[in-house]
Amino acid sequence: MLNAEQSFLNKTDKVIQDLSEANFSLTRTRAWFRFLNGNLRDLLDLGILLSGIYFITHNELEVATMLIILSYRGQIVSISSNLESFYDIIKRFELAAERIFEILEGNKYPKEVFGNKKISKIEGSIAFKNVSFGYERDTMVLKNISFQIHPNETVSFVGKSGSGKSTIFNLISALYRPTSGEITFDGIPLNQLDKTSIRKNISVISQNPYIFNMSIRENLTIIKEDLTENEMIEACKMACLHDFIMTLKDGYDTVVGEGGVTLSGGQRQRLAIARALILKTEIILFDEATSALDNETQHEIQKSIQNMQGEYTILIIAHRLSTVINSDRLILIDDGRVVGEGTHQELLKNNSIYQKLYELELKDDKKVNIKN
Ligand code: ADP
Repeated sequence: MLNAEQSFLNKTDKVIQDLSEANFSLTRTRAWFRFLNGNLRDLLDLGILLSGIYFITHNELEVATMLIILSYRGQIVSISSNLESFYDIIKRFELAAERIFEILEGNKYPKEVFGNKKISKIEGSIAFKNVSFGYERDTMVLKNISFQIHPNETVSFVGKSGSGKSTIFNLISALYRPTSGEITFDGIPLNQLDKTSIRKNISVISQNPYIFNMSIRENLTIIKEDLTENEMIEACKMACLHDFIMTLKDGYDTVVGEGGVTLSGGQRQRLAIARALILKTEIILFDEATSALDNETQHEIQKSIQNMQGEYTILIIAHRLSTVINSDRLILIDDGRVVGEGTHQELLKNNSIYQKLYELELKDDKKVNIKN
């Protein structure tokens, strides 16, 4: 579909070529060893034979001793052929070690490090204090960010694409750790908390949540084995999914396909909301889908978020400003910095960056309307 076959073929060609060259070089080295090895053996045989004849004819060596020497000659030859296979192993080991150490020592896969403090239920306040962070050491994506989220508040992060909103979520869910500064939950530094205390208290509803190839019921019971029918229906009602499930022939027992393919993007997100409601995590991070959802789906998602408002600390990455109207507060991010905080109306009145963002979106909306 991307018309990228040729480009992939070229890449594959290059890999095959590199591999052939490496194999050729190995075969050549091996051939040299064999050649030397074979000649060495012949030369050795000839040398032993000639010197044996010489010493026997000059009465300096007995025939019996000569036979013993000949019987050990094989071992000298086998040392040199062992060297050949040793060289082979070393070369292969070097290659494997290079790849393994690249992963173990590189920054590509940072190790997860957690503290050992346990808390079962947090209130839900989050604070960033002078937090800076870069995926690479010398490029800071977040630059000295500070903000405070109160328990049960609904706060939307807004800003241009690439300004650092998802990175803030990555730090809150402890997938990455700040380069400097501190993040706290209920005043406790996040790096002191153990893994379970963090995971049990945060749900992340991503743009495209992963749904298992099981029935809707199993997708929900997998996170809580003793889930009752009532709890399940209650959660799905709050997530505005129950009515849709009731239209399916097998209802809650409908199998949704690999990755939830038989559900729409909006339905997958609402199922993920139901999961968060069942887990009852105090903090819910919601990454609004960037892809255009139809108005009805968007409305259903809005409604399900409203259902949770006031009971949970909800943070939203808002890709459309139309979704932020109901938030208690907005935090405006621009180039890794907090450049404004307040309600939609306040920012629209006082913040020129927000005004521009709003105008841009209005223009885009108009374009879409014209196209439609
Ligand atoms: P937003 O969510 O506001 O669109 P992001 O937090 O995704 O912004 O990205 C902020 C910056 O960090 C961008 O320049 C992006 O290219 C970079 N970035 C995001 N994720 C990674 C990553 N895993 N590795 C390296 N750079 C990243």
